[in-house]
Amino acid sequence: MSGVVVLAGGVGGSKFTLGVRAALATLGEPEATVIVNTGDDIWLSGVRLQPDVDSMIYALAGANDTERGWGRAGDTERVNTELQAWGTGWPWFTLGDLDLGTHIARTGWLRDGLSPTEVLERLSKRWPLGAKLLPMTDDEVDTHVLLKNGERLHFQEWWTRYRAQLPPAGFENPGIAGSFAAPGVVEAIEDADLVLIAPSNPVVSIGPILAVPEIREALRATGGPVIGVSPIIGGNVVRGMADVCLGAVGVRTAADAVAAHYGARLDGGVLDTWLIAEEDAELAASVEALGISVDVVPLWMRDAETAEALAVAAISAGR
Ligand code: GDP
Ligand code: CA
Repeated sequence: MSGVVVLAGGVGGSKFTLGVRAALATLGEPEATVIVNTGDDIWLSGVRLQPDVDSMIYALAGANDTERGWGRAGDTERVNTELQAWGTGWPWFTLGDLDLGTHIARTGWLRDGLSPTEVLERLSKRWPLGAKLLPMTDDEVDTHVLLKNGERLHFQEWWTRYRAQLPPAGFENPGIAGSFAAPGVVEAIEDADLVLIAPSNPVVSIGPILAVPEIREALRATGGPVIGVSPIIGGNVVRGMADVCLGAVGVRTAADAVAAHYGARLDGGVLDTWLIAEEDAELAASVEALGISVDVVPLWMRDAETAEALAVAAISAGR
């Protein structure tokens, strides 16, 4: 048994993972294995960025900028200013100096021939993270946005430059159908006594993870229950632009619609149980009609205590 496995994106995913880490410590259980979305990744100014991986590392290390919501606390932008003076990179995309240190270290190790999994193992050694991090895949499957006008943009340009305001017709991760799960990912899921799907963006954070064929198969096959946490509370995204992403793939911004999008395990999907907010209690019956059991719990992660309480609720739902 490999204990608890979490599937997660960046900011929402890491808030939830902090809660899981605290809950498992309180219960005296082994550290979780966290499978992190790499669909956010991009090559920029010659370095490999892995925004969700880095959000997870920085948050678990306590080195993240909690006010701004991304990057390193106390970061500066001297190198970014210099890059822009050279006319390289994207003027709307800020790279912090400390953050660039991470990207340069990662890129150097990739150039030395290490796999993304091996690189993440090295990056994970700097701080005691209290969880084992794995990328979903070692293959490059960056997310592209297909616009309604027929154009195609890298997800980071659509998200950061256009603030998700250009109407999307869909999302694509070229090559993902032929990608492989990173080493250890399938084993972790198959041996898990519990798999938790974090309240991350269902389309561009959890979507790519579930689109890696071996990961989907492992989730379908695992003997442990698969428990998902709704990122939608009272018909709204808590923060970010997940509603725009959901609309593009024809899913309403509602807790029951996201559950239907993931689907019941007994009906070809991935969920056994779905945690919804008290504000959405009236949607419980429509989720249960899908063949997914429901727990109604407080879903707001306002601080360390509420994140831990949510993780305890998710773990208890599976035990
Ligand atoms: P990103 O990769 O940095 O965009 O972050 P994620 O994909 O991991 O998380 C974004 C999602 O987290 C959004 O869709 C939010 O609705 C959700 N989210 C953020 N804070 C909370 C919270 O406190 N509770 C719940 N249930 N969802 C949250
Ligand atoms: Ca992300």
